[in-house]
Amino acid sequence: MRLRPGLTVLWRRPGESQVGTDPRCAVVLEGLTEGEQWLVEALRRSPTAADLLRLGRTRGVPPERVRELTALLERSGVLDPSDAPGHGPVPPEEAYWSRLRADGDGGAVMAARAAARVALRGVDRLGMALAVTLAAAGVGTLLLDDDAPVTTADLGVFHPRDVGRRRGRCATEHLRSAFPALRTSAPAGTRPDVLVAVSYGVPDPVRLRPLLREDVVHLPVVVGDVDVVVGPLVVPGRGPCTRCLDLHRTDADDAWPALATQLRVAPAPGTEVTVAALGSALAAHQVLAAIDGREVGVNAASLEVSALDPVPVVRRWTVHPRCGCDRVGEDARTPVAAGALGPG
Ligand SMILES: [Zn+2]
Repeated sequence: MRLRPGLTVLWRRPGESQVGTDPRCAVVLEGLTEGEQWLVEALRRSPTAADLLRLGRTRGVPPERVRELTALLERSGVLDPSDAPGHGPVPPEEAYWSRLRADGDGGAVMAARAAARVALRGVDRLGMALAVTLAAAGVGTLLLDDDAPVTTADLGVFHPRDVGRRRGRCATEHLRSAFPALRTSAPAGTRPDVLVAVSYGVPDPVRLRPLLREDVVHLPVVVGDVDVVVGPLVVPGRGPCTRCLDLHRTDADDAWPALATQLRVAPAPGTEVTVAALGSALAAHQVLAAIDGREVGVNAASLEVSALDPVPVVRRWTVHPRCGCDRVGEDARTPVAAGALGPG
């Protein structure tokens, strides 16, 4: 038997041992004899049941008490239920979810991620940081789309020798080199599980609105003067879309359509590095939550974060009555166009 990956055995005081440190995946064992504490310590070495019984004999712990302790540890959720033989080191992502899931099956999370396809439009400093995070998290297919050149504002995630090259192609090369198992193309007509669109000022309606008809789940990430806004995650036909947000803003400021039109074509100023890091981390977190089947914080909500304050502000959104996106029916949806999926 072995502990769930990453958990460690800690001695608290005579008679008291602890496995793990976080209440969500740890247990404190009290009233132990010295021999029983040795037994708990032995879990560090992933002993077999026979090993524990043998150790119990040398430390004065009767077999029934060894089995009782083992059962207690199993019920506490600190033992790895899979306990497959020959289990080597697991990636930190798999270990993390193994500690937290009731079934201890971090491998199932990694399998779902490996099968997932994420499209990414806009591979600037923020977009590239997001792509690297998703690839490192185990997402199997990343489809990058950005024909703009790498600029000095993208350095950090790009190299100075990349300046002037096309971002999408350059980013794809870097990712393939760092993550050899990553797929960066997909057959024509493939629909991504999530498309992330990174932009400045406003989401690009010309490129995002067709995604409603094509039934593509998409996440706008919009960099502003101070904040980066992540969300809402647009699930066509369910919840608000980017046009709903535009209509709500127009209700609050009737000059918004004029402003938005100008923002769409304004030059991209580059993203402050901590804004890029915070925005990419939030976006990656939400994309992975959607892929893993966990609760998504940006369902009908957006998260706004800035270099001034690392704690995101949550803003709730509703479907705007004049938008009509909640009436996008199954019949109106068409398969996603192959060209929307980035370089082949
Ligand atoms: Zn809408």
